[in-house]
Amino acid sequence: MLGLMQDWPLTVDKILDHAADWHANREVVTRSVEGPIVRITYGEIRDRAKRLSNALLGFGVRPGDRVATLAWNSARHIEAWYAIMGIGAVCHTLNPRLFADQLCYIINHAQDRIIFTDLTFVPFLIENRHRLPTVERIIVLTDADHLRTVAIEGALEGALASESLIDENGGDCAWGGFNEQTACGLCYTSGTTGHPKGVLYSHRSNFLHTLVTLQSDVMGLSVRDTVLAVVPMFHANAWGLTFSCPAVGAKLVMPGPKMDGASIHELLETEGVTFSAAVPTVWQMLLAHMRETKATLTTLKRVVIGGSAVPEAIIRAFHDDYGVEVVHAWGMTETSPLGTLSTPTPEIAALSFDEQMPYKLKQGRPPVGVQLKLTDDHGGLKPRDGTSFGRLKIRGPFIAGEYFKGEGGGILDDDGYFDTGDVATIDPVGYMQITDRAKDVIKSGGEWISSIEIENIAAGHPKAFLAAVIGVTHPKWDERPLLLVKLKDGETAEPAEFLHFLDGKIAKWWMPDDVVFVDDIPLGATGKIDKKLIRQRFEGYLLPTATARVI
Ligand code: AMP
Repeated sequence: MLGLMQDWPLTVDKILDHAADWHANREVVTRSVEGPIVRITYGEIRDRAKRLSNALLGFGVRPGDRVATLAWNSARHIEAWYAIMGIGAVCHTLNPRLFADQLCYIINHAQDRIIFTDLTFVPFLIENRHRLPTVERIIVLTDADHLRTVAIEGALEGALASESLIDENGGDCAWGGFNEQTACGLCYTSGTTGHPKGVLYSHRSNFLHTLVTLQSDVMGLSVRDTVLAVVPMFHANAWGLTFSCPAVGAKLVMPGPKMDGASIHELLETEGVTFSAAVPTVWQMLLAHMRETKATLTTLKRVVIGGSAVPEAIIRAFHDDYGVEVVHAWGMTETSPLGTLSTPTPEIAALSFDEQMPYKLKQGRPPVGVQLKLTDDHGGLKPRDGTSFGRLKIRGPFIAGEYFKGEGGGILDDDGYFDTGDVATIDPVGYMQITDRAKDVIKSGGEWISSIEIENIAAGHPKAFLAAVIGVTHPKWDERPLLLVKLKDGETAEPAEFLHFLDGKIAKWWMPDDVVFVDDIPLGATGKIDKKLIRQRFEGYLLPTATARVI
């Protein structure tokens, strides 16, 4: 027997409709690519997005067609998203930090017909236009005057200014009306093996993810919040903020191309931001800027940090110096992205700040709609004892079931769980902790050493700016840890200082066999430490503990 409730497909156009109908005058503030701060409202955004939808329909865009965006976080980027998604086309977000070859591969693989882009990326498109045969049109998120300054006559064939399209088209356009399982967004993961693979979100998965992230133990956003969305729209949907903020009518602040400490601080203060989300490196830059300039934070209350593990120093600095609560989160492109958060349970909230710290450093517990399990290499379940490592597997209505065009084949186990490629523990309180990527874990004498745990502790050394740990070949143990440290500007240090700092904080046999000070720790396209590149750089590195060079 079926239920008798209304059939109301969960399509994301309804989210912006809600914002425009009930929070019409709430602002979306952007530091524009052209420079000035631009203010617009949810009501205006819907009207402008519908005009863009009509432009797309006029260009022959049909449901299921891929339309890409290569753009910073801005109100115009939001308009492009809803314009595409509202008519059942697929919004393919392109990460500008990828190499040109990867971007071209992704655009061709997705068969994008149109690309919305910022002025910033016009040179890339001019240079690579001939490699993108499926792309019929490029729409630059700007006005005609600015477009003229960058698009060299004829060089970017078919380029149009979004503002001209908005002026030329009417705002009457019917959105939605299709099945909630319709594809809505496409985002490729920066795969470490093989080509990048596309995660194809549906309207339903994005809608459900929005509802789940709005729970108070997840992002807990409210109409009274002002949200600075630093996390980019081109990486895992800005962690859903461009859906969840309009869903509750929160004021949204978009940093555009500027994510340095000074620019972020200025927006936090001038716009009265209460909540923000970003990867640790952004917060490191902000904290460094505030220390240098003796700046304060007057409105910010909570930041969600994820994408890579949050160093203790960041949690302490926010808490002790600025009274801001840090919530550590874990997720991935394949999980829409939020999977777990370190929100305290009442028992943990009752502890002192120092006693809470071990839990704050963990990636946390799943909300309803996310199921987790830990297994060994053969699928056997590992206990939730806080010490047994296992492969982290995940299941739920906003978790990828397969990759776009079936790349990589079947990705679920017999019970429908997706293998995240992360290695983790889960403690008896249910807090999951990532101990490594399966491919980064250091296998020493048949046992696993967590590279992330060592680097997090090392990064807390007062002289450290960034730390990375990789496994280096060892004749006796297979692999042993090598610690690389980038020191803060002007600092000098001896390896022994770092080994001493780690002593007592990690198991003796986890102690790195060597410490090397480096000028640069490379970050990948999504702001994470690029271990693959580091491993290449240190290939054949001879550890002092290795008696013979191993080829
Ligand atoms: P991406 O799909 O590019 O967002 O990358 C997802 C991966 O980032 C995860 O599988 C983890 O390896 C890593 N990651 C995300 N959040 C965290 C976190 N809080 N701590 C440690 N690793 C994380």
